[in-house]
Amino acid sequence: MRALFAALLLAACAAGEAPAQPEAPASPASQSQSVPPIPSAYPPRRMLSIDCAGAFTQGGVGLCRTIPHAQIFVDGVASGEADAGGWAVIGFNREHGAEAHVEARFNGVNAVQTYTIAPRQFDIQRVNGLPQDTVTPTDPALLERIRREAALKAHGFESIAPLEGWLEGFILPVEGGVVTGHWGNQRVLNGTPSTPHFGYDIAAPVGTPIRAPASGVVTLAEPDMHYEGGLIFIDHGEGLITMYLHMSRLDVHVGDHVTQGQVIGAVGARGRATGPHLCWRMKWRDRQLDPSVALTALNEARTQLAASR
Ligand SMILES: [Zn+2]
Repeated sequence: MRALFAALLLAACAAGEAPAQPEAPASPASQSQSVPPIPSAYPPRRMLSIDCAGAFTQGGVGLCRTIPHAQIFVDGVASGEADAGGWAVIGFNREHGAEAHVEARFNGVNAVQTYTIAPRQFDIQRVNGLPQDTVTPTDPALLERIRREAALKAHGFESIAPLEGWLEGFILPVEGGVVTGHWGNQRVLNGTPSTPHFGYDIAAPVGTPIRAPASGVVTLAEPDMHYEGGLIFIDHGEGLITMYLHMSRLDVHVGDHVTQGQVIGAVGARGRATGPHLCWRMKWRDRQLDPSVALTALNEARTQLAASR
């Protein structure tokens, strides 16, 4: 079975050279270049049904299979459509309740599945020694810069590339580091209560390579953000975007296609940081997700759903 999946994945990679699909939605990052098409390694379903697998937990991520281009609704919220292979990504935020309803709609017909979402415990984490202007900024010029950078980030999040990076599973972006901050912790920064920590912190020396956890297209690459230092966004498709904060060096540009394992830059300590680390983040549409959960959940979901019909 493993050999079969390897063969299918190879086929998926080899298919990446052809021109873009005509129905590929336009996105800020894909307008100026050709985008690899959706691989067709798994024959799509023909009858409307939906099945999902992955991490059904607060901050969790999963995959669903339905018919190509079915509209997806998660908890009643329109969440794009399945791709040309009938795959969709789903995710659950930190405060998600005990049940999730995932629905596929096509031509006035619908299919729904309900999943139990496991609650998580989040610790309180106190971080001291941060530059104070990254906790309670007051300088008008700095506030203006923060507004400008927020607009840049919003633009980077608008991208929904017609890609299937999440079918590859995710690998850790930094090898040999030490996890110093978990996702979802309630944080007190320099003594001031702050928003939850939506990152997974991996401490490693400045200059340690950061690798793309899966293929995608770069939708933001800024070397010097106030809060984030060097910052990169990668759009993996279906609304799944990963972020890399506090980088000391950027090796890619907006619009670049990256492959799994490709070095995108290096660990740094700039922005709201007390020392060198990668703060790794993941967003699915408007929901903050735990990227560390994706390391196993995406592989498991693909394996489970590829076998289903
Ligand atoms: Zn962090």
